[in-house]
Amino acid sequence: MEQLWEKALGILKAHLSAENFETWLEPVQFGGIESDSIVLKIPNQFFAEWIAAHYLDLILETLQAEAGETLVPKKVRWELDETLREKAQAARETTPPPAPRPPRATPKPPDSADLNPKYRFKNFVVGPANQLAHAASVACGSDPGRRYNPLFIYGGVGLGKTHLVNAIGHAIVQRNPRARTLYVSAERFTNEFIWSLQNHEINSFRKRYRTQCDVLLMDDIQFLAGREQTQEEFFHTFNALYHSDKQIVVTSDVYPHQISEMKERLISRFQSGMVADVQAPELDTRIAILQQKAESEDIELPGEVALFLAQTVRSNVRELEGTLLRVAVKAELLGLPMDLELAKETMRAVLPNQDTAMTVEDIQRIVCAYFGIRLADIKSRRRHRAVSFPRMVAMYICRQRLGTSYPELGERFGGKDHTTVLSAVRKIGGLMEDQDEHVLGAVGAIERKLGI
Ligand code: ADP
Ligand code: MG
Repeated sequence: MEQLWEKALGILKAHLSAENFETWLEPVQFGGIESDSIVLKIPNQFFAEWIAAHYLDLILETLQAEAGETLVPKKVRWELDETLREKAQAARETTPPPAPRPPRATPKPPDSADLNPKYRFKNFVVGPANQLAHAASVACGSDPGRRYNPLFIYGGVGLGKTHLVNAIGHAIVQRNPRARTLYVSAERFTNEFIWSLQNHEINSFRKRYRTQCDVLLMDDIQFLAGREQTQEEFFHTFNALYHSDKQIVVTSDVYPHQISEMKERLISRFQSGMVADVQAPELDTRIAILQQKAESEDIELPGEVALFLAQTVRSNVRELEGTLLRVAVKAELLGLPMDLELAKETMRAVLPNQDTAMTVEDIQRIVCAYFGIRLADIKSRRRHRAVSFPRMVAMYICRQRLGTSYPELGERFGGKDHTTVLSAVRKIGGLMEDQDEHVLGAVGAIERKLGI
């Protein structure tokens, strides 16, 4: 099995950029196989999150393909191994260009992750769906603490929020190598907070976040939902930084008002600055993202394959990238050209249990359930508000999340004209921008049900 791992690594190495491979896979050690899982030893928890999000499917598929008949478990048990930490550090330090690293203040609490070297503005593809968030982020990166403070970026899973906040951090450090940036997920913030309370280290925790920090990049704030004490701590952290003109960037999967169980005064802080959303990218942007990714990973990507993948995987950029890698690895393993046929075959294997399989009908059904109307109503011509409003909401969500064309949506909603769809999408979009509570509440609740 050890050999299998080495072999799989060899294949992955050929498909990932040297930087990614050295940063994320080289420090990982194979720890054997248990009854239902393989064991991977990692330097810190961040590796588990990162690998699970980006490379795990690929690793498992590669192992399985190499193992042939023998079944490889589909689960992983992560084992923290402190001795690997130095190895990981060494790997990162050889990564060009060496990003100046902020000093670590307190070594004891669970490690706070540095900026991710991979996420930069230069490899972020801008399109209509993320233009505003990108522009605000760039402004933040060049003039921190002034124009857009705080900056609040919200949007669905895998749409580039973490990428943007890291890029802001890099941009700031590039201009001012002495700027102390702190990138932290709300989850990690919570864990560190709890740890420091238990270990009587709250003073150094506060020092670290309130006085030794020039830029606080707080990812996935929705994690604080219902955690009153951590919210309280964050509120004071926020104020301390804000009043000394330090830049604060917060991301969330929903609009500030929609974060459940979040204290009103925190929400109003979030809204006091700039609020920008990232939406699912349009087809052209998805193609550009694929091309860019292919280039950085040295994958030769024929145009028709890019088009096919971009048309198939619509709601999540992470998924899009994962699919590209999967096809590339499969081509390598089977010694086949990376063509449309192979791409289609790969997609057939993964689509049924992917969220990318979400359809217009899924959205229609959930919208109907939410508003208590029938599927037939939503496709009907009835204009009563009890029906027309849910219909418009459903059209809006379909367009945002699936990127389906207006004519096709018209068709799926009982043969309506594309201009009807267009005006519905505009109307709901406008109400969202005006922060209409009814619309925000409905769209938020439905999206949660859809798991996006
Ligand atoms: P989120 O934090 O919103 O869930 P991430 O920032 O982790 O999403 O993005 C998921 C993956 O997609 C990352 O690998 C990121 O680099 C990539 N990605 C997302 N949006 C873009 C974009 N516009 N251009 C290039 N890569 C992108
Ligand atoms: Mg994220």
